[in-house]
Amino acid sequence: MPIKLSKRQLEILEIVKEAGPITGREIAEKLSLTRATLRPDLAILTMAGSLEAKPRVGYFFNPQSEVRQSAANLAKQIVNNYKAHPIVVQKSASVYDAIVQIFLEDVGTLYAVDKDGLLAGVISRKDLLRAAIGNNNLEELPVSVIMTRMPNIVTVKYDESLLDAAKKLIHNHIDSLPVVREVDKEKDMYEVIGRITKTTITRAYVELLEI
Ligand code: ADP
Repeated sequence: MPIKLSKRQLEILEIVKEAGPITGREIAEKLSLTRATLRPDLAILTMAGSLEAKPRVGYFFNPQSEVRQSAANLAKQIVNNYKAHPIVVQKSASVYDAIVQIFLEDVGTLYAVDKDGLLAGVISRKDLLRAAIGNNNLEELPVSVIMTRMPNIVTVKYDESLLDAAKKLIHNHIDSLPVVREVDKEKDMYEVIGRITKTTITRAYVELLEI
C-alpha cells in the first residue's frame, strides 16, 4: 500500500535524487538538521523502498519505487473516472442489427437492455459469430436468445476501484464489464452507465507511464 510521505521526507527524496549517492550526514547538512533528527525519516524511506542504503557509500534513490507508488495510486482510482460510454441494444433487436452495431460503434461487446432500459444481457463478438454459423436468418433471431443474461453478468459498480475491475476481467476471462448503478439488487435490476474494457485498463496504464 502506498504511504503518504511528509514534507520533510519528500525533501529528502529530492535531495537524494539530485545528489545521490549521499550520506545521511550530508543530507542533514543540506536541511540544516541533525542526523539524529533525520534518522526516523531515512528509516521510513528505506523501508518503503524509495531509498536504498549502502554502507560507507550512502543513500541512493530507487526509481522503481515511484512507478510502484503511481501503479498503486492508479489501482485505487475509481471506475467512474475511467469508464467509456456503453453501447447498448434492445434485447429484442436482431442478431443482424447487433452485428451492424458492433461494426458501426467499433466495439467488441454490446449490452442488451430491456424496455425499461435495465441491463438484460451481454453480447460478445464470439456470441455473434456462433449465432452466425449455420444460421441464415439473422434478421429474425433476437439477441436475447444468444446473449449471456442476468444473473450471470459480471458487473462493476461506478465507485469500485480500477484494480477490482481489472481483477474481474482477468478472473472471469472476459473483455468487458458493464458499469452499473443499482436499481434493485434483490431483483437484479441495474442501470448501465458505462463500460470498462481491457482497453480501458491498458490505456490507464499507458497514461501512467507517460507522465
Ligand atoms: P469474445 O467472446 O469476443 O472473446 P469475451 O471474452 O468478453 O469476448 O466473452 C466471452 C463470453 O463471456 C461470451 O459468451 C460473453 O457473452 C460472455 N461475457 C462477456 N462479458 C461478460 C460479462 N461482463 N459478464 C458475463 N459474461 C460475459
